Amino acid sequence: MSNGPIHSDLRINSYGSYLRRRFSCRVSKVNVDGGFTCPNRDGSRGTGGCIYCDNSSFSPKETVALIPIEEQMAAGMAYHRTRLGSEKFIVYFQKFTNTYGDPQRLGDLYRRALDHPDVLGISVGTRPDSISDAAIDLLSDLARDRYVCVELGLQSMDDAILSRINRGHTFSEYLNAVERLAGRGLEICTHLIYGFPGETRGGFLKSARLLSSLPVNSVKLHQLHAVEGTELARMYRDGSYPPISLEEYLGAACDFLEELSPRISIQRLYGSAPLAIRVAPNWNLKNNQMWYAVVNELKRRGSWQGCRFGDQARAANGEW
Ligand code: SF4
Repeated sequence: MSNGPIHSDLRINSYGSYLRRRFSCRVSKVNVDGGFTCPNRDGSRGTGGCIYCDNSSFSPKETVALIPIEEQMAAGMAYHRTRLGSEKFIVYFQKFTNTYGDPQRLGDLYRRALDHPDVLGISVGTRPDSISDAAIDLLSDLARDRYVCVELGLQSMDDAILSRINRGHTFSEYLNAVERLAGRGLEICTHLIYGFPGETRGGFLKSARLLSSLPVNSVKLHQLHAVEGTELARMYRDGSYPPISLEEYLGAACDFLEELSPRISIQRLYGSAPLAIRVAPNWNLKNNQMWYAVVNELKRRGSWQGCRFGDQARAANGEW
C-alpha cells in the first residue's frame, strides 16, 4: 500500500499518519517483552553486545519473560487508550532479538498477541543475521490476513563502523535479509543511528539513497547516545566518544529526510533514555519536541521529505 503524498504542513511522511490512513482509526504500538535474548550477547554471534547496548537490562533471568504477554498487552493498551484515545493496536516485540528462537515458540508468542480482538498486527524487532527461513515463512503466513512488520537493526551501512561498534553483523547480511523478506507480504522497517565516532554526515546520507532503493516501508532514526553501564559511556568518559551536537543531528536528519523517498514512512527521529541512566548527549527533549524541531528546520529550509529524492540518480544519469 502506498504511503500517499506528504501534506505540505507536515513535511514528513509519518508512520502514525500512515497507520491512520491504512486502518482508518487511531493505532498505537504496544511494547512487549517476549523473553528473548540476543546472539550478540550470548556468544553465538558475539559477546559483550553493541557498544551502546544497555548491559544492565541484560541478564540470564530475562531470557524468560516474567509477565505473560497478555498482561503486558493489557497494561500497554490501557495506557494508550487513556492517553491517546487509541482504538486499535500493533504489538511490538521490541526487546533484544525477537526472531531468535525455536519457530514453534515464535509462532505461539506471535499468535497469542494476534489473538486479541483489538490487535491489528505485530511488529517484530530483530537483527539481520538472526531471521531464519522458518521464521520468515511463519511471519509471511501470519501476514496473509494481519499486519506484520519486521524491524531490522542496520544502524550503519558502513562495515568499518559496524565492526567498531561490535555490531556482530555486516551490511551484506542486512541486504540479504531484506532480499529474503521482500515479496512475502511483510512490511520492512530499518533502524539507523547517526553520530558514531568517526562517522561523517556524507557517509550517513548514503543510507537515505540506499533505503530509497530497497523495498523498505519505514525507518527509525535516532542519535547515538550513551547510557550508564555501556562501553559507549566508558568511551565518553575517556574522550573517545565525542557526542554530536543537537544542531548537527537536526541538520543531518533534515538532509536525510530530503533525500529519502517520500514513499517511506518515518517511525521515529529520536532516542531518549531515562534521566537516571542518561550519560550523553543530554538534550533534554521529548520525542515530540525533536519531531517538531526537525519539522521546523525543514520549514525554515522550505523543504520536505523526498524533495531531493532522486537527485543523485539524475546526476549520475547526466540529467543535470
Ligand atoms: S543487537 Fe540489540 S540487544 Fe543485541 S547487543 Fe546489539 S543493541 Fe543489544
